[in-house]
Amino acid sequence: MKTPIPDYLETLLDSVREDTSGEVADYIPELAAADPDPLGMALCTMSGRIYGAGDDRRMFSIQSVSKPFVYALALQQRGWDKVQETVSAEPSGEAFHELSLESGTNRPMNPMINAGAIAVNQLINGEDSSVDDRVEVIREFFCELAGRELQINRQLCYSELEDAERNLSIAHMLRNYKVIQDEAHDAVLSYTLQCATEINARDLAVMSATLAGGGIQPVTGKRILNPDVCRMALAVMASAGMYDAAGRWMTTVGIPAKSGVSGGLIGSLPGQLGIATFSPRLDAQGNSVRGVGIFQKLSADMGLHLMAADPYGDSALRNIHTEGDATVIRLQGKVNFSAAENILNEMETEDFGGRRIVLDIERVSSFNKVGRRMIKEALRRYREQGHDVAIYDPENILTDLVYSDGTEAETLDSLKEHSLEEKD
Ligand code: GLU
Repeated sequence: MKTPIPDYLETLLDSVREDTSGEVADYIPELAAADPDPLGMALCTMSGRIYGAGDDRRMFSIQSVSKPFVYALALQQRGWDKVQETVSAEPSGEAFHELSLESGTNRPMNPMINAGAIAVNQLINGEDSSVDDRVEVIREFFCELAGRELQINRQLCYSELEDAERNLSIAHMLRNYKVIQDEAHDAVLSYTLQCATEINARDLAVMSATLAGGGIQPVTGKRILNPDVCRMALAVMASAGMYDAAGRWMTTVGIPAKSGVSGGLIGSLPGQLGIATFSPRLDAQGNSVRGVGIFQKLSADMGLHLMAADPYGDSALRNIHTEGDATVIRLQGKVNFSAAENILNEMETEDFGGRRIVLDIERVSSFNKVGRRMIKEALRRYREQGHDVAIYDPENILTDLVYSDGTEAETLDSLKEHSLEEKD
């Protein structure tokens, strides 16, 4: 059985593919000339499994999606007090390049707008660091997060610097208030090189899964950030990651997120998932049009809204047990997306031979919409491969036994008559 998740991701991409509204960012010449059509996405689970679809390997510059990661690095290197002295953590509700500071303190409002990100960039590797050393520390940090070698596209950076009056004004303003020490030009160069790191949607999914998982890179298993640092970065993403659309985003999608002008968009769902999309055309707020569409659909379909507080269910697989001519798969607890993904992955590695497959869901307390759909789809696929498949559901927890092709799942009245009782 091939897990249905990649097919689902293709369906998601298809649902937004025809939407060619929005414009590519045109204030950076290299981005203005970029192909507007690529469309890709990737998910990374807490176990480090990556699912991708479409142009998920297509490289593009990270731009503002770099901001939460560099903020996390600054917190890790310099600590909360020092970072708080430099940048506040309040949503600004303003555009990304707004020339504004917090009244009273003269700090940037948050690290997700350019003023905050330029100031945070300056904290990395200490105030006395050269631009080259600072940028190299950031690049190496991104490589660790992605679990592979990444490069900076210097040509893109220099193209952006040809017309960087806005960011230069921000840097002058920061220097005027002694938020940064570097010359304005150096501060903008350093920040723009950070933004010019080339990544793809798969890298971003793994990087955001690292934030979602409290700092352990799920593929390499290496601890890169402390859990409290990740928590702070996610909190700021939740309140300010989508610029002036942050409030609307939190109500409709409900996943801490960050967008960038090259068309990347990440979401980090605490304890569950890293998500990334790539599609270059942007809406009026500077967020990827098709990326936003995918996230809205994904969140609704999979029940991923943070405030829906579906308890995590990654231990919903109780055991897989072979008895006579049947393999019994016993589930328990709540079956949501993460739980179902985990169950399907375990089932995929199992060799059922010619045996009957019995799904025992007596101990399942609830399925959410996507959990139910994924489990049923897996059973349907096994049946299609010629397996004899049945469900034991004495409490009628599944509620609806109809498969996606309109046929119905076979149920068992009792495990006894098939001598399939649990032995433990
Ligand atoms: N390098 C871009 C800038 O500072 C990043 C902006 C963004 O991605 O939102 O203008």
